[in-house]
Amino acid sequence: MDFKRINEKLEILADAAKYDVSCSSSGSNRKNSNKGLGNSNGMGICHSYTEDGRCVSLLKILLTNHCIFDCAYCVTRKSNDIKRAAFKVQEVVDLTINFYRRNYIEGLFLSSGIFKNADYTMERLIAVAKKLRQEENFNGYIHLKSIPGASDELMREAGLYADRLSVNIEIPTEKGLKLLAPEKDRKDFIKPMEKVKNEIIQYKNEKKLLKRVPIYAPAGQSTQMIVGASGETDAEIMYTSAYFYKSFNLKRVYYSGYVPISNDNRLPTIGSAVPILRENRLYQTDWLLRFYGFDVRELLNKEHPNLESDIDPKLSWALRNLDQFPIDVNKADKRMLLRVPGLGLKSVNKIIKARRYRKLNWENLKSIGASLNRAKYFIICDSTTFETKDRTSAQLKSIILSNSNSKFSATLSNQLSLFDNHNTLSA
Ligand code: SF4
Repeated sequence: MDFKRINEKLEILADAAKYDVSCSSSGSNRKNSNKGLGNSNGMGICHSYTEDGRCVSLLKILLTNHCIFDCAYCVTRKSNDIKRAAFKVQEVVDLTINFYRRNYIEGLFLSSGIFKNADYTMERLIAVAKKLRQEENFNGYIHLKSIPGASDELMREAGLYADRLSVNIEIPTEKGLKLLAPEKDRKDFIKPMEKVKNEIIQYKNEKKLLKRVPIYAPAGQSTQMIVGASGETDAEIMYTSAYFYKSFNLKRVYYSGYVPISNDNRLPTIGSAVPILRENRLYQTDWLLRFYGFDVRELLNKEHPNLESDIDPKLSWALRNLDQFPIDVNKADKRMLLRVPGLGLKSVNKIIKARRYRKLNWENLKSIGASLNRAKYFIICDSTTFETKDRTSAQLKSIILSNSNSKFSATLSNQLSLFDNHNTLSA
């Protein structure tokens, strides 16, 4: 193996893959210049979570960053003047096995620019996974990016070797996609997703009847959207998510804040990177849809097209619906308990279990782990004390915000006084 050439390719193709967040946290750039321990030199190792919650490290690379398309938001677009490279199928197989044997990684995340056409590219991605499984007996995690427009037959084959498949929607709205990636058609994302969904269902059904059925994409499928490249509202983004979750049984939608990379006048100006806070609010909303029983229309609608930046979406909903509170934690159903700001999924499950044996009071709620500095404004328990009283939602919001600000300042000043003490001792 020509290590110098492989290393060059690895640098280019791991760097190009870092914009895909559907497997998070790419490697950092710290060099080992003093012969110390470890070397984190941007070789595309990232971390991801498997279905059973294990954190696995993955080799995250593109097969190639050559691409026949010219999507305005993408660093790999054909008009971008960058260094290009392409791995051979066997090179990716060898790298994966070598990294695996050295214990650097537990799996592979493989994506690609589109060269020649969708099927030609998809065939090569599959060839890597197939060789790893069949020739190398590799049982590690494999996440393959599906190429929009790939044929049904190839999508069926991909799921036989990959743990997870994903097609990136990229731009949340059709009009945004037309503007920024006019060569792409939304149907080309939907077709492979539909195929994967149907295959997963079919294999699960066959498994109930037959003894030996091959596993098909056991970690399901996911997608990614770029946020902030085409001026869409939070409502447009989350309505798209809700549609894709429901229609294609997606495991995850990832939200990736647009990173300004070009001067193209169809894009936001350079320097206007999407704040991390917006990504966070979208993830919180996503969580409320998947685990807290909210419908997207309750959180975002014509009157509220964007999420509030100063409070989380659950508190925002509660403040807009004060007529539904207070609720009695000893009587309320799970659906309403999950809507109380300060009560998480774990706390709610504990409350439901504990109240079978006794009437819960504030002390019990505290020991359960409920965040009472928020929840107390929306609940009553064994006393009828209710902190909201006749306050308006604006007043309540300002009290909660000032509470959390003073809590934050108190924590900070505690931490600073610890440093003060430490300095005094060491002086
Ligand atoms: S097809 Fe994919 S890799 Fe190619 S320019 Fe568009 S987003 Fe980038």
